[in-house]
Amino acid sequence: MASEETFMRAPAPTPKRTIYTEAMEIFNFAADLIGLDKRVRLELEEPDYEHIFYVTAKLKDRLVPLLPEEAKSFADLPVTQVRNPDGLERLANGNLILNGRALLGSDVAIRHGHLRLPDGHVYQLVPGESQRFKAYRVQHNQARGPYKGGLRYHREVSLDLFKALAAEMTWKTAIAEVPFGGGKGGIQLDPREYGREELEAITLRFMYRLKSLIGPNIDIPAPDVGTNPEIMALLYRQFSDGERERHNLRGIVTGKDVRIGGSEGRGKATGQGVAFCIEDYYADRGESVKGKTFVLQGFGNVGSHAAIILGNMGARLLAVNDADGTIFNGDGIDVNALAAYVADPKNLKRSVIGFPGAQRIEKKDLWDVQADILVPAALGGEITADVAERLKVKLIAEGANGPTTPEADRVLQKRGIELIPDIIANAGGVTVSYYEWIQNKRMERWSEAEVDQRLERAMKRNYRIIRDISRNQPRKTEMHDSRPYCIGRTVDSRCAAMILALKRIEAHYLLEGFSQ
Ligand code: GLU
Repeated sequence: MASEETFMRAPAPTPKRTIYTEAMEIFNFAADLIGLDKRVRLELEEPDYEHIFYVTAKLKDRLVPLLPEEAKSFADLPVTQVRNPDGLERLANGNLILNGRALLGSDVAIRHGHLRLPDGHVYQLVPGESQRFKAYRVQHNQARGPYKGGLRYHREVSLDLFKALAAEMTWKTAIAEVPFGGGKGGIQLDPREYGREELEAITLRFMYRLKSLIGPNIDIPAPDVGTNPEIMALLYRQFSDGERERHNLRGIVTGKDVRIGGSEGRGKATGQGVAFCIEDYYADRGESVKGKTFVLQGFGNVGSHAAIILGNMGARLLAVNDADGTIFNGDGIDVNALAAYVADPKNLKRSVIGFPGAQRIEKKDLWDVQADILVPAALGGEITADVAERLKVKLIAEGANGPTTPEADRVLQKRGIELIPDIIANAGGVTVSYYEWIQNKRMERWSEAEVDQRLERAMKRNYRIIRDISRNQPRKTEMHDSRPYCIGRTVDSRCAAMILALKRIEAHYLLEGFSQ
């Protein structure tokens, strides 16, 4: 006979906390609250597919600058006069890529693999070798349509991160009411460390591997951190090259340049969406954005466009930071001048640091700046509980994906700091991606005014539904109908957004049923 212990259940192991489990906390909370169908919950709790694969590419020869101490032993090395400076491509880390026949015809003086350039620095000549990169595509859910979401090129990526970001796309596409599911992927590399032609080779090889997993009606990538319209163009070319119906494949990626099938207004769409939400937040309170002050974390695609648009609405940017530091101007930073400064090709790091119209402050002091609004528009997990305790703002509009940790969320609630959660605040990007995809399918071209108008309506309509869910205020207006989504009690805004997403996704499963 089995002893009694045999039947005692072992204590459940405490699950390891990861980026994904953290991101799913709000999912679990909202799912409990609305009594989400058990099987739907199981479907959504883990991604449909998690692809990991590898991409190889041949790198170019490069010149790596020596540190001053290292360069001492080359004190008498003569200068190499370069005849073809166009062949040298300088990267943000100071390395030089040798494109084409960069040094051909130059008076090359090499000693032990080192040479001195006219800039006075000694460089080590590192021959280009082949390199392998780890790549990912997580396809989280397709109940509402093809998988959709960006491709991130960044050194700190992982399966765990991409699972969280892919799930977030599933919620976001449901909230934006675009007929897509969620996906995300990318490559583990810092794009600033590679030359233009190298990035092209890596990107083409990436698509060569990705091609069997995606398609314009299966899974549609887009830009994310570290990628841009140029990368999208390469992906489109590699996917469609040699295909008989090449032009029917334009919708394989969104976020393309407008000259090759991209949509007007896509570049600024995420920042524009953030601004529409903030505008509606104040309109609801009978106030306006005019005269408000804001602080910005990150000055990439999302941050810079949000800043320009909020600036045009009459708000003042007081401080902004990026990976290299923080700048501040109590009278307001001239956002257009800052955007021009960052875009200047001479600004290799694309950094806000050194901008003449502001003073440099300690990087972490960004969080202490008193302002009406904070727009985090950089990477995830930046607003921790400690940061949340320090903040001197009244509203946070999340331009980034997952910028706030669950602990920080609780602090913000306790402190009464209001929140426009990421899955509505930054949904403008994927919304205009949908417009681009329709235009590609129909071979149409919409004007910027038309895109903006549609985006404004979509953002405000869905944001109002979320506010109504949060306040438990079911109602129907000319613009929106929140009656099917309110749950009979008030909830915080992040939970309200998740409820809207889950109810829309659940409807697909409940109405269509499950295939066997
Ligand atoms: N990467 C963007 C996001 O996180 C855009 C995704 C898309 O347009 O598919 O929402």
